[in-house]
Amino acid sequence: MKIVVLGGGESGVGAALLARAKGIDVFLSDRGVLDDTYRQTLLAHGIDFEESQHTTERILDADEVVKSPGIPEKTELFAKLAAKGIPVISEIEFASRYTNARLIAITGSNGKTTTTLLTHHLLKTAGWNVGLAGNVGDSFAKQVVHDTNDYYVLEVSSFQLDNCYAFHPHVAILLNVTPDHLDRYEYSLRKYADSKFRIAQAMTAGDSLIHYAESQLIAEELDRRQLPVRQVPFSLVSAPETGAYLAGEELVVRSNGLHYRVPREELPIRGDHNLLNAMAAMLACQAVGVEEARVREGLRTFKNAPHRLEDVGEINGIRFVNDSKATNVDSVFYALGSFQSPIIWIAGGIDKGNDYAQIEALVKEKAKALICLGKDNEKLKAFFGDKIPTIVETQDIRETVAKGLELGQAGDVVLLSPACASFDLFRNYEDRGDQFREAVLSMINEQFAD
Ligand code: ADP
Repeated sequence: MKIVVLGGGESGVGAALLARAKGIDVFLSDRGVLDDTYRQTLLAHGIDFEESQHTTERILDADEVVKSPGIPEKTELFAKLAAKGIPVISEIEFASRYTNARLIAITGSNGKTTTTLLTHHLLKTAGWNVGLAGNVGDSFAKQVVHDTNDYYVLEVSSFQLDNCYAFHPHVAILLNVTPDHLDRYEYSLRKYADSKFRIAQAMTAGDSLIHYAESQLIAEELDRRQLPVRQVPFSLVSAPETGAYLAGEELVVRSNGLHYRVPREELPIRGDHNLLNAMAAMLACQAVGVEEARVREGLRTFKNAPHRLEDVGEINGIRFVNDSKATNVDSVFYALGSFQSPIIWIAGGIDKGNDYAQIEALVKEKAKALICLGKDNEKLKAFFGDKIPTIVETQDIRETVAKGLELGQAGDVVLLSPACASFDLFRNYEDRGDQFREAVLSMINEQFAD
C-alpha cells in the first residue's frame, strides 16, 4: 500500500505521521514551502517528502491520495488521478479508519468552531475522555496515532467532507447551510449542500443527526435522502417533541431519555445564533448520556475563541466588537441582530459571491454608518449607497478605529463583521481581528496617557 499525502500543513503532516505509524509507505508532496516545524517533524520521523513542487509521476504511483482541505481539486493533477482511478480521500476519512472512538462531527456554514469548542468543553468538564480535532488544534490523524480518547469532537468543513466516503460519526450536528464558498461549488447551493450532507452518508440507525429545524434547505434535503438515522431538531420557533427549543427565557433540551431546562442567562455566548449553537451542543451531550447538572457546570466555565463577537473594549462609551470571523453574509445577519444599539458597521475584503439582500432590512434598521475596509469596495458601495446615511472607505486599521470613534457616540457599537475574506489587506481573518483589537487597545492606552 502506497499513500501520497498532498499538502504539508497540520492535516497533511498528521496524515503522514499516522500512515508512518501504521507501517504504510508514505510520501508527502507540497507545492509550496513547508513551515519549518512541519519540515522538522517529517525529518524526525523519516517521512519522505518534497516541497515547492509536485512530482507528478510519483503522485500517480500512489494507491491512494490523502488531500489536504485547502487544495482545490480543479487542477490537472486531480484530473490525472481521476483518469487513473486513484482514490482521493480527506485526512478525516483516513484517520477515522484507525480509531474505535465514538465520533461527534460538526458541520455547517457558520458556527462550527463555536459549537465544536462548546461541545468539547461540556463533555470534558463532565468527565468524558474526549479529544478535540478537525479544523481546530492538532489534526485528527495526529491524535489517532496514540488513540487514547473514547470520543472525539470534530469540526469538519465542506472541503474535508468532499473527500469522505466511509467516515462514520455517531453523532453529527448540521448547524445550517447558507451561501458560502460557492466559488468552490460552481455557484450551486445544491452542490454545496450535497457536500455538507456527506457528513451523514455512512451513518446508521441509532446514530443521531442533530439539525437546525428552520432551515428550509436542510428540511428538503432530509426529505429527499430518507437517512436511516435518528433526527434530532433544534429550533427557535417551534417546540419539537424530541429536540431543543426556547420556552420563554429557558432552553428546553429533550432527547435520548434526558431532559434539561437551562435558563438563557446561563449561556456563556450571546446572540440568537449562539442560542442555536448551544442547543446543538447540549443535544450532542444528551446523545452520549451527560446529565443536566454537569452540562450546566460546564456552561459556567466556557470561553469562546476570539474573533467571534469578541468584546475588545470601550472608548468614550462606544463599544468595539471584533467579529472578524464573519466572512459571509449569514454570520453578519446574526451579528447585527445581536445588538440593540446603533451600529457603525465595518465590512469589506474579498467577496465570495455575496448577496446582501438577506441583510438589507437589518442594515437599514441598525447601521448608522458603514466603514468599508477593503481594496475594492464597489459592490458594498453600490448595494448600500442609498441605504446607509454615511459610508466611508479606508484601507488602514487604525484609521478604521479612528473613524468609528469619530462617527459614533456613547451607546453605539463599532462592529467589525466584514462579510468577506481578508486576504486583500491581511494575512487571514485572525490577523485582521488581532490588528483591530490592537488598534482599539492602543487607542484606549493613549487616552489614559493623556
Ligand atoms: P465557523 O467555524 O463555521 O466559521 P464560528 O463559530 O467560527 O463558525 O463563527 C463564524 C461566524 O459566524 C462568527 O461571526 C459568528 O458570530 C457567526 N455564527 C456563529 N454561529 C452561527 C450560526 N449558528 N448561524 C449564523 N452565524 C453564526
